[in-house]
Amino acid sequence: MTADESQSDHAEESAVETARRQLERAATHLDVDEGIVDRLRYPKDVYRVTIPLERDDGSREMLTGYRAHHDNVRGPYKGGLRYHPGVTEEECVGLAMWMTWKCAVMDIPFGGGKGGVVVDPKDLSDDEKERLTRRFAEELRPVIGPMKDIPAPDMGTDPATMAWFMDAYSMQEGETSPGIVTGKPPVVGGSYGREEAPGRSVGIITREAMDYYGWDPAETTVAVQGFGSVGANAARYLDDLGASVVAVSDVDGAIYDPDGLDTTDVEDHDERPGMVSGYDAPESLTNEQLLELDVDVLIPAAIGNVLTGMNAREVSADMIVEGANGPATSDADRIFEEREIPVIPDIVANAGGVTVSYFEWLQDINRRKWSVERVNDELEAEMCSAWEAIRKEYDTRDVTWRDATYIVALERIAEGHEARGLWP
Ligand code: GLU
Repeated sequence: MTADESQSDHAEESAVETARRQLERAATHLDVDEGIVDRLRYPKDVYRVTIPLERDDGSREMLTGYRAHHDNVRGPYKGGLRYHPGVTEEECVGLAMWMTWKCAVMDIPFGGGKGGVVVDPKDLSDDEKERLTRRFAEELRPVIGPMKDIPAPDMGTDPATMAWFMDAYSMQEGETSPGIVTGKPPVVGGSYGREEAPGRSVGIITREAMDYYGWDPAETTVAVQGFGSVGANAARYLDDLGASVVAVSDVDGAIYDPDGLDTTDVEDHDERPGMVSGYDAPESLTNEQLLELDVDVLIPAAIGNVLTGMNAREVSADMIVEGANGPATSDADRIFEEREIPVIPDIVANAGGVTVSYFEWLQDINRRKWSVERVNDELEAEMCSAWEAIRKEYDTRDVTWRDATYIVALERIAEGHEARGLWP
């Protein structure tokens, strides 16, 4: 499935609309000052920049980039930069809002930001991608900083992109500033375990949710849409736990083995693009069929808005754990609620990424590296404590898992606003 296909039937709802609706729902359960909720409906500011890119053939192209700042009451803005043809200002604002909730639910001292460039990275050579990244870093330099706004990788960007970004910023500032971005290669201040972290946290949260419902991993079947960094690490984590991962996919299609796939034998989309759907498995499926498989756990870990009002009734999974950001629209969410299918939301499930970004930032500003064991142990502890806070809300209120998660986040953000007050 292409991004265009996946986004065709949900044009009715943008990321910012979904994010606002989720905020409003959570607010109905809490006694939060209406002024604070109103403030959180809007970004603090959004920057739009033009990036002149010199192509390898010497021609010039003007690209558009954005950086949205949503809320920084709890700390500097934090969130990824995506290179994707579908990037829009509205999408950046919606994704920045999700980062605000994500950092709050994890109780890490960051706010929400997000940005990107409207470009298809597949059309760029490595040299072009490097020139684009360096110029984008320079255009954003006035509004970012290790104590102000710390970007990170997202769709279409990776550790190499972050290394160029850090280098460009550092050259201009006249000092090496590893804390300006996270998700860098470990050799230049990146953290061990950062790349695996979002998928690992999806695995940890799925494990906790299975435990909550009393499901034995050995008896549990899992389907994962998107076998890139998030999906592959989640699938391998659950496979190690004893679950049976019966289907995985890439953009070209899905593979299915009712007896369970060997998830370490399937090369992920980042390791070798095209190898997932090309893998020799008993059955091939489309991405749409994967979403409708009769499995215990469905993990949409590819792109946003794949579960919509159009297909939510066809989903046969007993639980959904969101690996991607925003894979379900509000319509889909309503249908899952009606059908009593628990949906564990993205803002906790894939929050391992930003959590290990926080560890990376701590390592950068302290100039002290952590071992991968320490990173994984601390990630485990942070994920379990976030899960515990959500579970308490879920058990004491008649709400969905998504509402319970937003309640935890909104309560912490609102307390921050109350404490800091409005100035002047
Ligand atoms: N882009 C990732 C996310 O959506 C990571 C953000 C970060 O590490 O700052 O959570």
